[in-house]
Amino acid sequence: MSYIWTLEEIEQMPEGQNHGYIIRYPPDGGRYKTVEWELEHRLIAEAHLGRRLLRTEHVHHDDENRQHNSWDNLTLKSPSEHAKHHHPKEGEMRRCVICHAGFYPRAAHLSYDRQTCSRQCNWKLPETLQRRRLYLNGRKPDYKLNAEIIRLHTTGMTLRVVASQLGITYSSCKQRYTKWSKRQGEPLYV
Ligand SMILES: [Zn+2]
Ligand SMILES: [Zn+2]
Repeated sequence: MSYIWTLEEIEQMPEGQNHGYIIRYPPDGGRYKTVEWELEHRLIAEAHLGRRLLRTEHVHHDDENRQHNSWDNLTLKSPSEHAKHHHPKEGEMRRCVICHAGFYPRAAHLSYDRQTCSRQCNWKLPETLQRRRLYLNGRKPDYKLNAEIIRLHTTGMTLRVVASQLGITYSSCKQRYTKWSKRQGEPLYV
């Protein structure tokens, strides 16, 4: 898990491309669950640093050439420094209205007046202020239905019974339940 590939080993891995970046297929299948490749510039940074990178350490290409992966062209940046570098106008810091941490809105958040630093803080806003992006197939989550599923299930009904009571499929019921039960306990208004 914590093995750091050497530059020679990286060089020998099968190579590919993703979004203009060079990717490599490590012999152990890589560290991610969903893909079997890793970004070459991150592997190279790790080889030089002798340790694994944190998710919060971005590796920036100084010359902005995504394929120029020599160590002297790579610089570690925090996500906010990195966003600031690539999107200087987006870099203005805002203050989260829930936890008061400073944050840099992402491009997707600029189309509206994002007021919270994270999803966790966003959920603590009143629902009408959340402005979260709409869910799958463009439909807004059905809050009442979700609350009803949770309420019925906590009375001891199985999710299959709840689903048939509410006239929805079991899989939709289960999906709504697992997603929304996690958010219980989060105060709605702060
Ligand atoms: Zn960059
Ligand atoms: Zn916050």
